[in-house]
Amino acid sequence: MALLVRSENHDDEEWARRLREHDPDIEVRIWPDLGKAEEIDMVLAAQVPDGLFAQLPNLKAIMKLGAGVNNILDDPHRPEGVPLARLVDPLLVVEMTQWAIYALFHFHRRMPEYEAMRARRDWVNLGATDPADTRVGIMGIGAIGGDVAREIARQGFPVSGWSRTAKKIGGVRCYHGWDQLGDFLAVSDFMLSVLPMTPETEGIIDKNTIAKLPQGAMIANMGRGGQQVEADILAALESGQLSGAALDVFQQEPLPQDSPFWTHPKVLMTPHVAGFARPKTAAAQVAENYRRARAGEALLNAVDFERGY
Ligand code: NAP
Repeated sequence: MALLVRSENHDDEEWARRLREHDPDIEVRIWPDLGKAEEIDMVLAAQVPDGLFAQLPNLKAIMKLGAGVNNILDDPHRPEGVPLARLVDPLLVVEMTQWAIYALFHFHRRMPEYEAMRARRDWVNLGATDPADTRVGIMGIGAIGGDVAREIARQGFPVSGWSRTAKKIGGVRCYHGWDQLGDFLAVSDFMLSVLPMTPETEGIIDKNTIAKLPQGAMIANMGRGGQQVEADILAALESGQLSGAALDVFQQEPLPQDSPFWTHPKVLMTPHVAGFARPKTAAAQVAENYRRARAGEALLNAVDFERGY
């Protein structure tokens, strides 16, 4: 019986070491050294190499090394009926919240203008903006978005959240469902998506959504690139309907060399690095799910295949 690990952060050895701290009997194999493939009963991976699932006849569970499971769900070789879980890593949540705050303050503290002024050696005080005058809307208020919403509210911004089902978060005005999306967008001067990628959320940040935001709104996306229609974002930046965009994720990754986002003066961008799951903080959850998988128990943070997240 063995757990196959395939990380993307060159920390597979650390995963193996941390997993053994939680269960000294775990046999960890590091991809591509499968050993006897029929002995592998769980895979922990950020990306599953093409065709790997087809080589593992006795898989009891799959764990995504991260929070977004869309790439695993889309794998044509994923065995039907094998439970899939995602990681809810406290350190990843903290990092995602830091990225969201950074993106918000980039615009709120007028950094693009100060950078342009700096290039001209121009010393001007542009004045202060009260956080109470910038309404922040978070699309997706689950493990990550909920933390983002609470932290931004703590900074003095009025915060709303939007989810699929009704939620209650102290200090956050909660909207849910498609019927309430328009009301949520109307009060989002800075709108950030941290939604999972599902058939329902595909292309959700398009011209219709953007048109419902207040004139001159800012958007940010650290969910998945497939949620944004990039031509619509660029057109809205051009027209002034959007005054800025912060993007960690893109329709095509790596971002094509000829994408206008690389040099767009109103865009803050990073190469899908808002947050990573780490062995130090997430190995306990993986070890527990490995125990559960072998005992035939329900996994922690199991993905609901109907919902797609
Ligand atoms: P989560 O706990 O499952 O929360 C997802 C949230 O999205 C929930 O509030 C859910 O509503 C809402 N939602 C899902 N479908 C919806 C729909 N159709 N309409 C309205 N709301 C909907 O997930 P999480 O751990 O916060 O992670 C969210 C996503 O962040 C991941 O799936 C991944 O794509 C992304 N992510 C990105 C990075 C990065 O580095 N950029 C890193 C980690 C994660 P309910 O509360 O009603 O279920």
